[in-house]
Amino acid sequence: MRCRVCGVVGVRPFLDLGKMPLSDGLVRPENLQGPELTFALEVAFCPNCAMVQILQDVAQEVLFPEDYPYFSSFSDQLLAHSRRHALNLVETRSLSGDSLVVELASNDGYLLQNFVELGVPVLGIDPAPAQVKAANDKGVRSICRFFGLELAEELLAGGTGQAEVIIANNVCAHVPDLNGFVAGMKALLAPGGLITIENPYVRDLIDHCEFDTIYHEHLFYHSCTGIARLMERHGLHLNHVEYFAELHGGTLRYHVSHQAGRTPELEAYLADEAATGVDSFRYYEGFAQRVEQLRVDLRALLSSLRAQGRTVAAYGAAAKGSTMLNYVGIDGDLVSFVVDRNTHKQGLHMPGTHQPILGVDALVEQRPDFTLILAWNFKEEIMGQQRGYTEAGGQWIVPVPHPEVIAS
Ligand SMILES: [Zn+2]
Repeated sequence: MRCRVCGVVGVRPFLDLGKMPLSDGLVRPENLQGPELTFALEVAFCPNCAMVQILQDVAQEVLFPEDYPYFSSFSDQLLAHSRRHALNLVETRSLSGDSLVVELASNDGYLLQNFVELGVPVLGIDPAPAQVKAANDKGVRSICRFFGLELAEELLAGGTGQAEVIIANNVCAHVPDLNGFVAGMKALLAPGGLITIENPYVRDLIDHCEFDTIYHEHLFYHSCTGIARLMERHGLHLNHVEYFAELHGGTLRYHVSHQAGRTPELEAYLADEAATGVDSFRYYEGFAQRVEQLRVDLRALLSSLRAQGRTVAAYGAAAKGSTMLNYVGIDGDLVSFVVDRNTHKQGLHMPGTHQPILGVDALVEQRPDFTLILAWNFKEEIMGQQRGYTEAGGQWIVPVPHPEVIAS
């Protein structure tokens, strides 16, 4: 099989999750009896460019139908992280009314609004019409397009200047033509400019058994080695890296520019990846076995609770929740409903396993004995918001890195 990024034949699969429904394909009540599409889901490592990737392609129009019914919900934690990032960039890059900040996958302007507030011109680019409208409505200039070299050249030809800063957060995992995406960034970046890219770190995925972050929308799982090689092939350079342990289970922010040179922090990450083998197949070999063990352990925990007559709900109707429920085989007998703060998801059902999605009030109203935190990347925030449930005797289960009841 051929690598999606470097084109060399010989990617090596290391995890097969079997056939899975689309993880964002929430089911309307009237469609519960109908057929549900499932697609194979396998993950592989490219020994040539070190890119971890899934093997299956699901057509973009199937993944992101036009009536894609909801906005990404941003947690308070993520909004605060974004704001700190923006303020820091304004200061360290001396951004002003003459600068331009471009964000790729800018959504509803959740990040760029911080620059607008400080009078720094921005351009958001996002393929989702409703989100782009919401951004423009609040004064964050945005256009509704997929980003790539073609759009970058079109913008430059149309008089948009090159950008001092380009931000791409949690998008480099989703782009089928990653080479065109990076080539577009190179074209659009001013000579002394900075690109920052954030993505969950593949090392956390593997080390903490975060297999539920694997789904059809996520084509790539990034490391410093993989990003460094990708940038080099496009004449860009990875210069620096920052780590955020609490964000999405462990996130790296890559700093990329036209200039060569590596900070000691980046050198340390690259050396560490070479030492642990993140850049070679052996690191990934035992992963499937650990994922299988998690499945066995979580099923055993939930089955024994149910056998004791305890009730179990789950929190978080996001994509990773779907991967967890479907791979582990958690049906409505084991977990009877799922709660989510996002009102657009309430009233729908989980893909594949079909639990109804209710508002978070259901935790206090229905008082399940245990709640499985599918959105474990926000577990502190969730437990903080749901003190009433905990005080009423509710207990929490966290599924990764191994299933565990949290003592409260
Ligand atoms: Zn490759």
